[in-house]
Amino acid sequence: MNNIVAIVGRPNVGKSTFFNRLIQRREAIVDSVSGVTRDRNYGKSEWNGKEFSVIDTGGYIKGSDDIFEGEIRRQVELAIDEADVIIFVVDVEDGITPMDDEVAKLLRKVTKPVLLAVNKVDNAMRVDDAIEFYNLGLGDYYTIAGMSGSGTGELLDALTDLLPEPEEVEEEEALPRFAVVGRPNAGKSSFINALIGEDRYIVTDIAGTTRDAIDTKYNRFGFEFNLVDTAGIRRKAKVKEDLEFYSVMRSVRAIEHSDICILMIDATRGFEGQDQSIFWLAEKNRKGVVILVNKWDLIEKDTMSTRDYEKRIREELQPFNDVPILFVSALTKQRLLKALETAVQVFENRKQRVATSKLNELMLPIIENNPPPALKGKYIKIKYCMQLPTPTPQFVFFCNLPQYVKEPYRRFIENKLRENYDFSGVPIDIYFRQK
Ligand code: GDP
Ligand code: GDP
Repeated sequence: MNNIVAIVGRPNVGKSTFFNRLIQRREAIVDSVSGVTRDRNYGKSEWNGKEFSVIDTGGYIKGSDDIFEGEIRRQVELAIDEADVIIFVVDVEDGITPMDDEVAKLLRKVTKPVLLAVNKVDNAMRVDDAIEFYNLGLGDYYTIAGMSGSGTGELLDALTDLLPEPEEVEEEEALPRFAVVGRPNAGKSSFINALIGEDRYIVTDIAGTTRDAIDTKYNRFGFEFNLVDTAGIRRKAKVKEDLEFYSVMRSVRAIEHSDICILMIDATRGFEGQDQSIFWLAEKNRKGVVILVNKWDLIEKDTMSTRDYEKRIREELQPFNDVPILFVSALTKQRLLKALETAVQVFENRKQRVATSKLNELMLPIIENNPPPALKGKYIKIKYCMQLPTPTPQFVFFCNLPQYVKEPYRRFIENKLRENYDFSGVPIDIYFRQK
């Protein structure tokens, strides 16, 4: 299922150019639907019928000129921990630099597959120059030009050969799978410990479909659910670096493997860039989301009301802000049961199917009264709509001129659906198609 490919290498070798090429086609489709892109470093790609997530590790490290060697080292170590396949990009113009040597030294030790990509091989002459990269001791390499795309096909063939065959479509899991995510020190471990308490509540340990993700089944307060734990979360390893990269990288697998993401934020810090990235990751993967503002016990209630606080967060969540936000304390156990209840509710919301007749009864009169604005003198007529039988809510509206329906109208339709059905915490896709 979720295969994670990490792109590593020192700055300016062309990682992000190559990354953009990988995700381009998919991204174009997603963007036309949601109208937003908020992350340049994580995306989905597909080649030879195999899907994978791509992470441009370099994209998370800013200030590329005076980057520390230690930074690159940690970046590579984390990629080694979290990814299934690593693509190491080097630059034929520069040849082997000491930093390349350092990275190669780390990569030679790992058992995970590493693909060496010699980039900027724009012409035949440079093919010969690439030979020096055998000295990295990583075996054969692929010559590519990320800019033009030349050579990337062979690299991707090799990559997809390493990935497992796509599984049969999974049986719909009966139990909700919750991933507790958030930046370091938000209180994730405290929350999980408070929630699951003693070990006797553990029913079984089921090895997840991916190597590192583990579902553990719990029965608490009358709810049954699986907590998605990953090596990343469990190891948790006193990650001191409070960098966006680390929490995002550590969340990817858990998020992809879950149904619902319980995003914990630290009330004393507010909703920050890292929270934004993790939230976006969940939304992009069409997961349900519940936001827990943790450590609420530390907030002076005179200076900050829940309502103000909530409003501020919702502004950050735009445009997907129909998300439950709860104020909790893992320490005093305040509202933890409510948090669990809400997560289960979001799971139900995500599964719900609206009958076609009911949907049309509701939506057609609304559309009749507020039709899409005419464009270039052409009137758009929406005739019929239905929810698709997909694992996450997707709706299709059939009309004569789908290409003339613009984002504001799509949003209007989404708002109407949300007003009438409980899709709180759940991303919705809406398509307009020719009938
Ligand atoms: P990153 O820091 O590793 O993400 O590198 P970038 O993707 O930002 O690229 C660094 C520079 O290399 C940019 O100026 C790119 O235009 C350039 N570049 C990327 N790929 C190629 C390529 O295939 N050929 C050439 N000649 N330049 C490239
Ligand atoms: P994680 O890195 O997200 O797993 O965070 P931890 O669960 O390890 O918590 C980080 C620190 O915050 C620890 O010192 C916790 O005791 C503290 N903490 C967690 N939840 C709360 C809370 O609700 N209130 C207060 N006051 N402290 C908390």
